[in-house]
Amino acid sequence: MKFELKILIVEDNADDRKLLRYNFENHGCKNVIEAQDGQEGLDLAKSQKPDLIISDALMPVMDGFQFLRAIKTDENLRSIPFVFYSATYTGYKEVELAISLGAEAFIVKPKDLNELWEKLNSIIKECNLRKEKTFPAEQIDNDHEYFRSYSNIVATKLEEKVRELENAKAVIEAKEQEWQTTFNSIGDCVTIHDKNFNIILANKSCEKVFGASQNEIRSRKCFELFHGKNEPHEACPKINTEQKGKPFEAERFESRLNRWFSIACFPLLDKNGVVRGVVHYAKDITERKKAEANLREIDKKFRVLFESSRDALMTLGPPSWEFTSCNQATVGMFRVKNDEEFITYGPEDLSPERQPDGRASDEKSKEMIETAMLKGSHFFEWTHKRSDGEEFPATVLLTHTELEGKQFLQATVRDLTEQRKLEAQYLQSQKMEVVGQLAGGIAHDFNNILTAITGYGHIALMKLEKDDPIRLNIEHMLEGVDRAAYLTKDILLFSRKHISNKTPVNLNEVVRQVEKFLKRVMGEDIECKTVLQERPIHVHADSHHLEQVLMNLATNARDAIPKGGAFTIATEKVTLNQGFISAHGYGKPGEYALITISDTGIGMDEETRKRIFEPFFTTKEVGKGTGLGLAVVYGIIKEHDGYINVYSEPGNGTTFRIYLPIIASKPRKETKTHQEEASEGGTETILVAEDDESLRNLSKAVLTELGYTVIEAVDGEDAVRKFMENKDRIHLILSDLIMPKMNGKEACDEIRKIKPDIKIIFMSGYAPDIVRQKVLLEDSAQMIFKPMSPNELLKKVRNVLDEGKHN
Ligand code: ADP
Ligand code: MG
Repeated sequence: MKFELKILIVEDNADDRKLLRYNFENHGCKNVIEAQDGQEGLDLAKSQKPDLIISDALMPVMDGFQFLRAIKTDENLRSIPFVFYSATYTGYKEVELAISLGAEAFIVKPKDLNELWEKLNSIIKECNLRKEKTFPAEQIDNDHEYFRSYSNIVATKLEEKVRELENAKAVIEAKEQEWQTTFNSIGDCVTIHDKNFNIILANKSCEKVFGASQNEIRSRKCFELFHGKNEPHEACPKINTEQKGKPFEAERFESRLNRWFSIACFPLLDKNGVVRGVVHYAKDITERKKAEANLREIDKKFRVLFESSRDALMTLGPPSWEFTSCNQATVGMFRVKNDEEFITYGPEDLSPERQPDGRASDEKSKEMIETAMLKGSHFFEWTHKRSDGEEFPATVLLTHTELEGKQFLQATVRDLTEQRKLEAQYLQSQKMEVVGQLAGGIAHDFNNILTAITGYGHIALMKLEKDDPIRLNIEHMLEGVDRAAYLTKDILLFSRKHISNKTPVNLNEVVRQVEKFLKRVMGEDIECKTVLQERPIHVHADSHHLEQVLMNLATNARDAIPKGGAFTIATEKVTLNQGFISAHGYGKPGEYALITISDTGIGMDEETRKRIFEPFFTTKEVGKGTGLGLAVVYGIIKEHDGYINVYSEPGNGTTFRIYLPIIASKPRKETKTHQEEASEGGTETILVAEDDESLRNLSKAVLTELGYTVIEAVDGEDAVRKFMENKDRIHLILSDLIMPKMNGKEACDEIRKIKPDIKIIFMSGYAPDIVRQKVLLEDSAQMIFKPMSPNELLKKVRNVLDEGKHN
């Protein structure tokens, strides 16, 4: 029998619709119609007039309740039984509402489908709508089949849901673990705070910093823990208010923890964008701060070193090796305004086009840089150019450094100008010293020979009759010897192998003394002037030698002034300071007498000027100049611990400046110059001790000629022996000071032991002996210096023999 019941299913879920249709069909109800929402259901109900409506509650477009209301208000549809079949079930409200609106029942999903069928059946019965139609009994068996499949679907669905939930839980657990591990593995302190500064979470790193467990930290206020304060640090609340949820960063020294932190606060916002807490990230930067301080100190020390160097230091950077920095010494050396100006120059601007070896500077400098890069450093000489164009010699040390992948070159430039000047001066004085020694050595021996010639010449003259024609020859010979003696005297003066007799003298006096002769030396058409310091200037000097200096300079001036001109000598007091000394490369600081000697003559070029103090250097024709004048001047000034320099240019005259150290004491009264006295002879016996045979013979000849008796000794020992043999007849000993076997002093000491009051005259050679004489002799010792004229010798002998006789 056919079952005619027409059922309308209103349900948005297709699966559920399918399930219901299946269920109804299983029970023999083939007349089932479907709608997806209330509106569709209403339309279907109007057109199809179903026997039963079964509807979901929540649906799009028109929900179940609206749909029910529409059915119950429609005259034609009102009588159709309406049943809710819904999962939306929270309590009784829906049921009450449904019943009140006229629904037959509210069945909650999923419902045992058999039960659902029973329920629907009874509703239909109750509504009296069966119209002799009943559910077929045979169909009932099929319900089990339907039920099984339905529960299978539901079970699968549930399992799926459970699996989904389990998966979701596993994901959340994994995320939680990832987060926890990440949180705790951060090497810096990370804490999470609520709005009231309570720490609600702290990572593992906090434990070490705060010395408390993660749990202990969690109960604390952040400001207590970090700042050791009872209230928030002034900056902290800003994150809540002013910062308006923006991250906040700062570097702070936390005195409680005695450490530096770099702090970052990231706000946590709720759904409405309101700050609900803060993630507080604190990185301990104490070590970095220390390193920075260290670096600053190193940098400062380096700066001091860099700036205090007298050498020019500069750095050059790749790729084209331009200057990148320089020190103060560089600014001075290259005569630029400051380091900023300096680095605007390229290395090529600070070198002449070519180096002294003729190579182009730019090409050669490239090679120097390459060598420095290859070897690490390179030292070489270089000619530089200052910004004003002046060239100067220098040494350069180029060092190549690589620092953290960056390459740079460092250059140390040393200006050699001063050093070259000193070297030249040193070389010059070395040369003078050597030449002086050589010349002096020869002159000394030469002097002995001259002494012999003069001596014998004079003796010969004495023996000749007044009108003897040979006399003239001998006189000419003696004149020649005189000239030779002058020459040797000059050489000895220059080589400082002469005896100088220094006393305190007033320099102005010396100049006045010379002034008397100047006119005669200079001639009529040269105007001679002296400009003297008013007060006396005292120097420790040999006035005769100083006179000689001035005379030599005057003679040269005369030769340099062709016709008409001026010659001036000026004296003044000056102080030599460090500035003078560094500029000239010589001198000791102190008070000096300055004598300026200038002429308006022809002057000289640099070539000449460099050599004028050399002995035998002359520009004058043969026979006119000896080249010794200035060498003598130089020797004498040196002997006086003084300095001499010259300024001259061709055509512009010449100026010499002589500096002599000033002393405080007044000059002693000059002893009256002794008158030449006629030589006097005598009859006494004299022991002559002299190792040089010709000199010994000369002395003997001179002395015997004038009536004395001479006993000769050839050395010190011989002198003592001869004295012993003749001690009662010897009145005087004339002894050379330096002799073989036993020197003069030792010999005389021996003799004095036998005869303490014996009269002794020592003969001495040249300056180096003086040192020894000083050691050997007492002040009162009688001395006569070689070379001596026969007259001098006789005078000295007579004076010493007569000593004590008159008193
Ligand atoms: P000499 O006078 O015998 O040549 P010096 O040693 O006195 O030797 O001088 C050396 C040289 O120095 C001279 O030959 C001359 O060229 C130069 N000279 C010295 N003084 C002057 C001067 N006042 N003016 C120009 N040249 C000078
Ligand atoms: Mg001269």
